[in-house]
Amino acid sequence: MTAGNIVFLFILIVAVGFFSLNVQRLVSYLQIGHPDARTGHPFTRLRNVFEIGIAQKKIFRDPVAGPMHALIFWGFMVLTAGTLEILIAGVYPAFSFEALLPKTIYTVYSASQDMFAVVVLAAVSFALYRRMVLHPRRLDGDDLEHTDALIILSMIAGLMITLLLSNAFMLAAFPQAMGPEKVVSHQLGSAFAHMMDPRTALARYHIFWWAHALLILAFLNYLPYSKHLHVITSLINVYFSNTSGPGVKGAMRSMDLEADVESFGASDVEQLSWKNLLDGYSCTECGRCTAACPANITGKLLSPRKIVINTRQRLMEKAPVMTGDRMDFMRPALSHGVESYEAATSDEVLGHRLLDSYITEEELWACTSCRACVVECPVSIDQLDIINEMRRNLVLTESRFPAELQPVFESLERNGSPWAFSAADRAGWTEGLDIPTMAQMRERGEKPDILFWVGCMGSFDDRAKKITVAFAHILRACGINFAILGQEEACHGDPARRMGNEYLYQILAKNTIETLDRYEVTTIVTHCPHCFHQMGNELPQFGGNYEVIHHSTYIERLLQDARVPLRSAEGQKLTVAYHDSCYLGRYNDVYDAPRQAMKRALPVIELIEAPRTKDRGLCCGAGGGRMFMEENTGKRINAERTEELLATGAAALAVACPFCMTMLTDGVKANGSEVPVYDISEIVAGQLQA
Ligand code: SF4
Ligand code: SF4
Repeated sequence: MTAGNIVFLFILIVAVGFFSLNVQRLVSYLQIGHPDARTGHPFTRLRNVFEIGIAQKKIFRDPVAGPMHALIFWGFMVLTAGTLEILIAGVYPAFSFEALLPKTIYTVYSASQDMFAVVVLAAVSFALYRRMVLHPRRLDGDDLEHTDALIILSMIAGLMITLLLSNAFMLAAFPQAMGPEKVVSHQLGSAFAHMMDPRTALARYHIFWWAHALLILAFLNYLPYSKHLHVITSLINVYFSNTSGPGVKGAMRSMDLEADVESFGASDVEQLSWKNLLDGYSCTECGRCTAACPANITGKLLSPRKIVINTRQRLMEKAPVMTGDRMDFMRPALSHGVESYEAATSDEVLGHRLLDSYITEEELWACTSCRACVVECPVSIDQLDIINEMRRNLVLTESRFPAELQPVFESLERNGSPWAFSAADRAGWTEGLDIPTMAQMRERGEKPDILFWVGCMGSFDDRAKKITVAFAHILRACGINFAILGQEEACHGDPARRMGNEYLYQILAKNTIETLDRYEVTTIVTHCPHCFHQMGNELPQFGGNYEVIHHSTYIERLLQDARVPLRSAEGQKLTVAYHDSCYLGRYNDVYDAPRQAMKRALPVIELIEAPRTKDRGLCCGAGGGRMFMEENTGKRINAERTEELLATGAAALAVACPFCMTMLTDGVKANGSEVPVYDISEIVAGQLQA
């Protein structure tokens, strides 16, 4: 061992030790969060790590930045092996994987190091150009974030340059030292060999080797203080993301209302779960979520990216105080409005909180719960979970919510509906249709095959009632043995839950389960995606387990089985632009059934897709309780969405949700257009034989 090796060993121990302390510190910060069981479904989690983490599936949703980032990521994975070899050789110079690996594998490994160094250098150069020259809007951030990104990108570029140069000078000094598979290093090495003698080349090799090795260790220790902490945490975050399967992934967490706690929901970081906090560590600040957010797109204050960054900033501010940590000397720089380290350790920190100091009420109430942010996030962050927990705190602990919600909560409590209609009027739409109720069927000693859950919109809203009638006609025409609950149906509480009123929600949800179980219901069909999601994916949290089918899927199955008596569809081609409901699509992955149902029933239909469609579809603006709130800031979301759909030139718009129906119908009217909006059941019912 030379003196140089001993010095390097010392530096290595200090660097790895400091990094380990930082990892410990960051883990201790996560521990201030609430417990959240995330160990189930290990195989699904591993598959997600492979698909989303390693194969970078979601990264490729952006055709420009996606390949660039994926190349940097894969390059890093490949180069990690070389890094290990370099660090070990720094202590024990004779070490090389060449002695451990079969020749062919070593040759491939060796070539990959050279090739990926060039690939990463090219990708990083493009990233720097993009950030400094192109300035994409979604990367907008404060100066600190921008500088941090430039530091990291420069460090990565420096790592690649020093790696290539140290290899090249090594070759110039000892031409026999490396195989020809390191093509770029060989080219450079040959050039250097003509320019200098071997001793000079060797001296330069040592300079670049040290520069490279020290840069690796500096990079490693900068990460815990940087937004690029995601380099370490993103795969872990993907593993622990909410993965249980379609639908359940969008289910809101249940809440123990009997718990002996001073406040419900979250107003500060220690009231969030450790996973919400890990989300903060994992954010790459790429802005994909905000670029897809309907609230942000239309000029509201809400930015899901900011929600996650604020969570991390507040964690970095408060956790050191809570854990008594003195290592976080970067904290003032990362904190919000805190001028100095001393100030950051004072009452000032405890005087702040995540709610109000970082994230305002206005931001939280702007969310439509559309899940576009969650679907877009390349590292599986759940921004919506943080918003939901903070809304719960606003409503349950602080009684702070938009004034328009007060009558909604009252009506849900009194009438079992968000609107002040009497339960006695629920089945008003059945007049003249002779639709049996569950109670009537029970009296007759009969049991229906399915319960048609009509929903509050379908029961009381004049336009939505037409959808209800159309679907009932289809069921009738197909000879389905079905019944409704009539005045025994009441809201299951989904709007209350989305608006943060978990207390009211749980009462309504449990009442619904009680009613359904009383009639021994097993299969439910509904035309409302919100009812479909709530009853299928969230009632199981309280023991309500039913097969719940959205009418689009049910109709599609009936059509597939040739059970729908259709008249022949002749005539002119009808162009239709279908709008995806968030709770049907992004929450439950139902994209094809509504489209297929329309096409099967009316083959002359030509479906036109809007630019933002399927899992990238833009929300109508009604979800998350926004249906009941004023929309005074920016452009109306329904106007934005309707304009986009009308711009396709379609002769009609189609929906599969009564809430979307209202929003788009209003949007069409506001646009001065006469393009009709149909529910898919109306299109199918229109084709029924007389
Ligand atoms: S759920 Fe939708 S509206 Fe809410 S923050 Fe995410 S993208 Fe924005
Ligand atoms: S939350 Fe996800 S999508 Fe949003 S900025 Fe962070 S990494 Fe990007």
